[in-house]
Amino acid sequence: MHADAFFAVSAAILGLCIGSFLNVVAWRAPLGQSVVAPPSACPACGRRIRWYENIPILSWIILGARCAGCRERISVRYPLGELATGLCFLAAALHSGPTAGFIREAVFLSLLILTVQTDLTHWLVLDEASIGGTVAGLILSLTPGGIGMVRSVATAAGAFLLFLAIRLVSLLVLRRRPDYVLPPEGMEDEEGFDGGMGWGDIKLAACIGAFLGPWPTAVAVFIAFVAGAAVGLFLMALGRHERRRPIPFGPFLALGGAIALFAGDPIASAYLSIAGLL
Ligand SMILES: [Zn+2]
Repeated sequence: MHADAFFAVSAAILGLCIGSFLNVVAWRAPLGQSVVAPPSACPACGRRIRWYENIPILSWIILGARCAGCRERISVRYPLGELATGLCFLAAALHSGPTAGFIREAVFLSLLILTVQTDLTHWLVLDEASIGGTVAGLILSLTPGGIGMVRSVATAAGAFLLFLAIRLVSLLVLRRRPDYVLPPEGMEDEEGFDGGMGWGDIKLAACIGAFLGPWPTAVAVFIAFVAGAAVGLFLMALGRHERRRPIPFGPFLALGGAIALFAGDPIASAYLSIAGLL
């Protein structure tokens, strides 16, 4: 097999396995449980999951999406998480080949996938992903082909401050209409929801900045807001979403970050050349 093809296939398989691990982290970390012990078990019947029942995607298909012990349904989000991570690693391998760039991209995309999972299920961006991710982005900026520490720090700080400003403005607006934003569905009794841009999103923006540098980060943020607004309007049109309830923003930042990772610079220069024509 050609070396590049071999690397791409290996990267995809590695991605499937990392995706399987990210599923465990996304399931356990928000509950404060260890991600290494005890071994995975069915949440319904407690039956220990054997290694051959834990093969990414395949096991889920062979088991017919049910636990082998109690026949309880296994959510499709597990194989989807594995598939998404495998495809992301494949894309990074095809984009960068066997270089430090591949490691930067694989780490960044793994953090984004973890964020999508925890934000959709728990309205939570793990500090390990956002703060830990910012530190990882700063360190990896020094690897060959990286954006360099100065740009990484400056963009992380800039993105953090921008999102902090958005939070302060949204809270100021809400002061005049305090009951306008309702808590997310199922979170009525939980503390910490004030209707402003969440701290998890603010820290996640810093992480994206640390990995991508200025222009791609601007593209990522722009895509996140446009996609968030579009999905919100779409869900409202379907009657699936109440106007006054928020939508988790992490998945949109993750989407913007992933697109900007691969196409941020061309999108930014296309925008600048169009803007220059006006
Ligand atoms: Zn079971």
